[in-house]
Amino acid sequence: MYIPLYNIVFDPKDLTLEDEIVFDCHKGVVCFTRCCYDVKLVLSPYDLLRLKRALQLTTEEFVEKYGEFFIGEVTQLPVIALNMNPYDYSCPFLQEKEGCKVYEDRPSACRIYPLARYFAENEKGEKIELYKIIRETHCKGHYETRPIKVKDYLVEQGLLPYHHFNDLWGEVVLKRQKFAHIPLTGDLLDLIYTMAYDLETLRDSLKTGDFPYLRQEDADLSDEELLEKSLMAIRDEVLTEENINW
Ligand code: SF4
Ligand code: SF4
Repeated sequence: MYIPLYNIVFDPKDLTLEDEIVFDCHKGVVCFTRCCYDVKLVLSPYDLLRLKRALQLTTEEFVEKYGEFFIGEVTQLPVIALNMNPYDYSCPFLQEKEGCKVYEDRPSACRIYPLARYFAENEKGEKIELYKIIRETHCKGHYETRPIKVKDYLVEQGLLPYHHFNDLWGEVVLKRQKFAHIPLTGDLLDLIYTMAYDLETLRDSLKTGDFPYLRQEDADLSDEELLEKSLMAIRDEVLTEENINW
């Protein structure tokens, strides 16, 4: 039997925020930057906001330079993903010696690794947040001897705002799945794209007073405030049965 050297394994144990993992990642590990090749990085609206702001690019410029836009096969929602470099499949933000050029604003998938987050119900029927450890043969961070609680790892990796916005986007996706059998019109897709990913265009449209679901004065909100309001409006007001049943 052929067993590939490159193998992903999830530890069977479910971890809570209070559980401890033994892991560290730093410039001294032998595998430094090995995980920045050949990865499918789908960017959430907040991932994109942070990257664009760090690189001082508009959404259009970002997609043209680094990404691709498509309609998600499962969600049927607009998706933006990061393209790897065609010659060696490295991430376009990888610098050989220094590592990640956008480290302070790297996407949530890069921050959370080697954990995978998911939700389940406890015996009382309450929603609980759980984690599993991902083990891949190339990642030697598991041999570092630093213990750290899951909740402290999330703070260390700057994940809390990402979780907030990604959970909101997850609610949009769930809402969309309720009506998955009905295709979205081009107008609705454009609207969702602008509200989730293109805050510059959204702000300009709000200023003219010619944009549904948000108020003209929302143009003056901070990026984070505007994105939060916009994602909630997609979830509660755009993705309604009435709108989708065109
Ligand atoms: S964004 Fe940074 S951390 Fe993430 S894959 Fe690219 S170089 Fe690596
Ligand atoms: S492979 Fe693991 S330890 Fe190595 S740089 Fe990536 S996350 Fe860090």
